[in-house]
Amino acid sequence: MSQPRNAVQEMTNKVFPVLEQCAGATDAAGAWPTRSIQALRDSGLLGLTLPKEVGGQGAGMADFVKVTEKIALRCGSTAMIYLMHVCGAQVIAASPSPKKSDLMKQMAAGKALATLAFSESGSRSHFWAPVSKAARNSTSTVLNCEKSFVTSAGQADYYVVSSGAINGKSPVHSTLYLVEKGAPGITYGNWNGMGLRGNASGPMTIAGCHVDDASRLTAEGEGFKALMDTVLPWFQIGNAAVSIGIADAAATAAATHAANTHFEHLGQSIAESLPGVRARLARMRIAVDSARAYLNQTVDKISSGAPDVMLFVLGSKALAAETALNVTDEAMRACGGAAFNRSLSVERNFRDARAASIMAPTTDVLYDFIGKAVTGLPLF
Ligand SMILES: Cc1cc2nc3c(=O)[nH]c(=O)nc-3n(C[C@H](O)[C@H](O)[C@H](O)COP(=O)(O)OP(=O)(O)OC[C@H]3O[C@@H](n4cnc5c(N)ncnc54)[C@H](O)[C@@H]3O)c2cc1C
Repeated sequence: MSQPRNAVQEMTNKVFPVLEQCAGATDAAGAWPTRSIQALRDSGLLGLTLPKEVGGQGAGMADFVKVTEKIALRCGSTAMIYLMHVCGAQVIAASPSPKKSDLMKQMAAGKALATLAFSESGSRSHFWAPVSKAARNSTSTVLNCEKSFVTSAGQADYYVVSSGAINGKSPVHSTLYLVEKGAPGITYGNWNGMGLRGNASGPMTIAGCHVDDASRLTAEGEGFKALMDTVLPWFQIGNAAVSIGIADAAATAAATHAANTHFEHLGQSIAESLPGVRARLARMRIAVDSARAYLNQTVDKISSGAPDVMLFVLGSKALAAETALNVTDEAMRACGGAAFNRSLSVERNFRDARAASIMAPTTDVLYDFIGKAVTGLPLF
């Protein structure tokens, strides 16, 4: 993998040792990764993709993908928190809100962590169709939403919240709002996930929460456009990078285990002794590198505005999520009981990898979209 630019590399060099130290304990305790997130805040990486004028790094998707993959290689939970932050930051940066300049400065300075609160209990993984409805009084908009999963719930400083538009005529008439941590009417539920256990991806209830006009992040009813134009590409490629990082961690750990663990009675390592394990390791390596190549091609297509870019944007998350499921399963088998009894990080990778395929748009939905696209049908 090529290295990110030098300034970014300096930032990551400060963060990676902390992630390596904390990832296992974060998972075991199912606890918010306080030290890892503080390291991210201190490093400047929260402003990676924000403009230099607000103190950000002005980096594009290529650097974002590299950094996110390398975070996921070390800690899946932290990588998903980072991905959600960057998606939230991109929505805020693209918004017409008069608050955005100050907010971007806060994020670049590490003082503000953002996230997305889209999925609702009513429309489940169909995040593009919130069932909640915003209402209007004389001075503000009132939000009432049951959000089913929100990464960094109760921990993030800012929430990009979707809601059915005021007087919206269809489920895709939505509006995006900025809601601050601690705003009246917000409560957070618990998170006890199978994987990504440090994520705090619990439910969030927003009941009678008043937001001013400056907190509207899209024009009324234009939320769907922001979801498609901004959130979809950043989330898809970032989620793919998380899956590839997790899969690479498992492939690398399995190869290290096979090379350094011995059958004493044969005088050989597992790798020397077992061609079947060598073949598994080969399949894993090819799968990880192929998914990465597809993702890099997607990023190139986004920057060049290639006509078939949407197919690749949809495909990159689906391919990476499937790859992560397959590779972490192969890694569990290659490492045998050593992985099963949790003496290796492979079983954490196996559990963490399972989230991507059910995070919206889920892999099933992506296959349906891609099937529609290649047969000339409209996606919605
Ligand atoms: C770790 C984690 C973190 C998350 N973080 C966030 C967050 O920060 N913000 C946020 O908004 N959401 C977040 N989510 C929610 C996520 O994006 C999905 O909305 C959620 O996982 C869907 O779960 P569900 O039980 O509602 O799925 P359901 O919608 O009930 O889906 C059940 C099954 O049906 C399939 N299915 C659904 N629709 C179709 C279709 N049209 N065609 C074919 N198959 C279909 C799905 O693929 C799935 O296999 C997170 C989820 C997880 C697991």
